[in-house]
Amino acid sequence: MQIDLHTHSAVSDGTDTPTDLVRAAAAAGLDVVGLTDHDTTAGWAEAATAAASYGIVVAPGIEISTRHQGAGVHLLAYLPDPTDAALLAALDRIVAGRDERTPAMLARLRELGIPATEEALAEVAGRTVVTGRPHVADLLVRLGVVPDRDAAFAGYLAEGGPAFVDRYAADLTATVGLVVAAGGVPVIAHPWGRGSRRVLDPTGLAGLRDAGLAGLEVDHLDHGPAERAELRGIAEDLGLLVTGSSDHHGAGKVGHDLGCETTAPEVWEAIQDRARRNGSPVTAFGG
Ligand code: AMP
Ligand code: ZN
Ligand code: FE
Ligand code: FE
Repeated sequence: MQIDLHTHSAVSDGTDTPTDLVRAAAAAGLDVVGLTDHDTTAGWAEAATAAASYGIVVAPGIEISTRHQGAGVHLLAYLPDPTDAALLAALDRIVAGRDERTPAMLARLRELGIPATEEALAEVAGRTVVTGRPHVADLLVRLGVVPDRDAAFAGYLAEGGPAFVDRYAADLTATVGLVVAAGGVPVIAHPWGRGSRRVLDPTGLAGLRDAGLAGLEVDHLDHGPAERAELRGIAEDLGLLVTGSSDHHGAGKVGHDLGCETTAPEVWEAIQDRARRNGSPVTAFGG
């Protein structure tokens, strides 16, 4: 069983449609693929149809933008009820924060003499419902300012960069509670990637476990071997599940090929069990 529980489609900042992503996952030999677009479930329906067409199981999820003690933390939510009013309100607020930030980033770029207009952004952002920095990065590539997304982050969009603008993110502990209340299973994505190690020490993680956190995405390319070993130990001590995933973004993120990191079958079973026990009306698609 090959199980990859964290990928993005063009509904957020991946480059493949949900259909193409699910087809590619089946072609890569995966048995289960998680669709975890940032802050939205808008790709789920299309992915469900594709799961049936291509004979693969799709684990529906969301990667929610949260903040914990000042640091950005991405929270994966598996199998939550996508009609849960409180969860939807939280996602709406995050998307509204994105929509306020985007024009501010474009204005910063124009101050730097780069012709970054809303119209040009719309062309590269395509069908996304959650505009993010990767789309602005794609615009900078299109305008010939940088060669790729990574260079756009390094030169302009990373925290502290000349076109960086902060945005609203939901409180992590509160969001863990919201996900569980919606029947879902919360797992912290790449917990020690990009500066969140400071706020996610064993004590902090114990508190989050008490709030309902179910697992840690230990096997992720953002973590080296030493970090993985340490995180695995913490997860064992706290009784947290350990997942692994590619965080595939199509052509948008180099090296994150589908299935490059995987989750054990018993962990995927445990996630589905927890969703059932949390009262989720959602089960995996296809298969
Ligand atoms: P946003 O949610 O709009 O703030 O954009 C964050 C997304 O951009 C993350 O989910 C990553 O996929 C990507 N990202 C963040 N920082 C970097 C970086 N330094 N280099 C490349 N991609 C990044
Ligand atoms: Zn992303
Ligand atoms: Fe992430
Ligand atoms: Fe991701």
